[in-house]
Amino acid sequence: MRILIVEDEKGLNEALKAILEKSGYVTDSAYNGTDGLDFALSGIYDLIILDIMLPKISGLAILGELRQSGVSTPVLLLTAKSEVEDKIKGLDTGADDYLTKPFDTGELLARVRALTRRKGEIMDDELRYGDLCLRRSTQELSRGSSSIRLGFKEFQLLEILIMNKNQIVLKDTLCEKVWGPEDGSEYNNVEVYISFLRKKLSHLHSEVTIKSARNLGYTMEGGEK
Ligand code: CA
Repeated sequence: MRILIVEDEKGLNEALKAILEKSGYVTDSAYNGTDGLDFALSGIYDLIILDIMLPKISGLAILGELRQSGVSTPVLLLTAKSEVEDKIKGLDTGADDYLTKPFDTGELLARVRALTRRKGEIMDDELRYGDLCLRRSTQELSRGSSSIRLGFKEFQLLEILIMNKNQIVLKDTLCEKVWGPEDGSEYNNVEVYISFLRKKLSHLHSEVTIKSARNLGYTMEGGEK
């Protein structure tokens, strides 16, 4: 799960990042409206946390632009106590929920869970596919009684592949979701990490395989029975 944080207060942005990453989310931070909009338009995020008062472009303008461009990523608005009208405007513009500053960590995480769940991606600790079980809390991949711990990138790749089973996941998508939108130099890493994952699958003697779909991307096989 990858979350975009658009918040110009540096301390709050960093605090949000720390809280979310501690709970296993991957985050990107933008500190002004222009960067926020650019990042958000990539469409790679599972959730966008969006402050309303931002330099350059306001949160509400970003939200309007996203919805007009057909980006339906869930948006959690951050509002100050005094911005009641903005809250209403925000919900009208297509925000999914809002949180009034200052908020407590538990409340934030509950909203984040609810909004990412709305997409149908229930954050159960165990993700199953075929004879495999992937445990999110420990990044452990197991088959029967054997298990192996995955590196964080391997874990993220496999999580995305399992959540999108029965379809081809494009290399570009994997690259953006795991390495982020900024770094084009990591492209070849996808292949390297997929080969690590394949080794681990065969080490577990799993029936599941990761098939290459031409040069486009990957798909999981061996889980349908
Ligand atoms: Ca602000």
